[in-house]
Amino acid sequence: MQILPRSAWGAAPPKSPGRPWAPGGPVDLVVHWVGGNGTIGIQSHTDCPARIKAVQSYEMSQEYSDIAYNLVCCPHGTVYEGRGLGVQGAANGPSTNATKPSVCLLLNTQDTMTPEMQASVLELNRTVTPGTILAHREVNSTTCPGPQVYGWILNIRTQPQPKPPTPVEDDDMPRLVKCDNGDPMVLLTNSIHSRWVQDEAELNDLKALYGPVSTWAPRDFYRPVLVGPSPGPWSGRPAWWPAR
Ligand SMILES: [Zn+2]
Ligand SMILES: [Zn+2]
Repeated sequence: MQILPRSAWGAAPPKSPGRPWAPGGPVDLVVHWVGGNGTIGIQSHTDCPARIKAVQSYEMSQEYSDIAYNLVCCPHGTVYEGRGLGVQGAANGPSTNATKPSVCLLLNTQDTMTPEMQASVLELNRTVTPGTILAHREVNSTTCPGPQVYGWILNIRTQPQPKPPTPVEDDDMPRLVKCDNGDPMVLLTNSIHSRWVQDEAELNDLKALYGPVSTWAPRDFYRPVLVGPSPGPWSGRPAWWPAR
């Protein structure tokens, strides 16, 4: 999915460089809101960049080195980089800042989470930040992101998820695992982030980028079954990761 860069909202540069993720991160997605009184006052999408800039200005006046959130989602479903996904956020609290990315919904207490926001959070979880969708109040002592968003998060968790396909090893390509529905699959980098390989050309592109792809697993497994050798430590941003 498309994530708009910091330049889309006129970000000020950070006061200090961000910290890299701790081992095991980034995984899961912690959902926040702005949470000010009343309505945030967004009339149209052209208002959204200025609202993000206002969040950054406020937070940088409160001793933050940058906007606290990794990502920001506006009511129209557009996702923007906050700090981006290349560094830790500072919004969740000390126990999860180093491993769990954050997304801030541009909502105040009188605003309602839009269907477009819901779709974008689900797509982030599906394609960019795999793992569990968490409310900020589940990882720290806060009411964020408000009762409506929290209720939505609890509700999507109880809905049945599609069963992941079972990996089956392919004799002709012993390192390649196919799902029982015939789809090939590849797991890249740190054994958490994974994606489908659609065809041989894409596979070859990935091999050119990363060298021999050593580990294969079905997408959407949180802790996939490793078929090849361990992928080793996080070796950098995968090609499909949104560019900064
Ligand atoms: Zn929060
Ligand atoms: Zn918008």
